[in-house]
Amino acid sequence: MPRNCSAHDYSTLIRKWRALSTKTVLRVREMSTPEPLPFFEVTNDLLCREKPFLYISAGIHGDEPAPCWALLEWVEENHSLLRNIPILFYPCLNPWGFVHNSRLDENGEDLNRIWGNVFHPLTEQILKRIEGLSFFLSLNLHEDFDANGIYIYEPYQGGRTDRWTNQILQAGKKFLTLDTRKRIDGKNAKNGIIRPRVTHPPKEGIPEALYLFQNHGTRNFTIETPSEASLEKRILSHKAMIEESVRLATRT
Ligand SMILES: [Zn+2]
Repeated sequence: MPRNCSAHDYSTLIRKWRALSTKTVLRVREMSTPEPLPFFEVTNDLLCREKPFLYISAGIHGDEPAPCWALLEWVEENHSLLRNIPILFYPCLNPWGFVHNSRLDENGEDLNRIWGNVFHPLTEQILKRIEGLSFFLSLNLHEDFDANGIYIYEPYQGGRTDRWTNQILQAGKKFLTLDTRKRIDGKNAKNGIIRPRVTHPPKEGIPEALYLFQNHGTRNFTIETPSEASLEKRILSHKAMIEESVRLATRT
């Protein structure tokens, strides 16, 4: 994050992405919605039905700013890697919430519970965009005010914990400790890992991660940092976990 810039400075965040697109293969596209502030997508124009791609989103909850900056910084440092990997990134899915430090959007809606609604102005565009595409990895980046450390949601469909989950947490642990709670968000947690059953979605609506996992992907991780830790450490920890996830998914 640039010095002297607020964690909720959306115009600087987008200006930085646009600057990046002028010197790299990345393209930044404004998405039109009825909302006063547009959200943006970032691609490298390698998306096609034949090749699985990397999907990363951040900022669906506007009071969780660290991952938005972490994704930007990680791409600033690794854009050459993205020349050959098809990508689709949404750097900040709730711009109004980001600016107003609000989990919800300006209509009081939790945008992480609307992914079963194909007519919502946000999901309508994204679901159309990803129709027919498959992901080799999708990451949803979040923060949690109740957390005492980092943790990850890994969709559970039976079987053992994905060994990548622990490796990703190990990378994030260089900057922040693991969340020690045994119950997180009403679910059992162990060593910073929660495995929600894909057959038991939240009553309030379908989260982004579940939609992506069930319709497009093989591996999905929802990565969380503790909101009460320093912003710098949260950014560094998220960046390290993005880095490790992508490393694991693209190593040959
Ligand atoms: Zn969140």
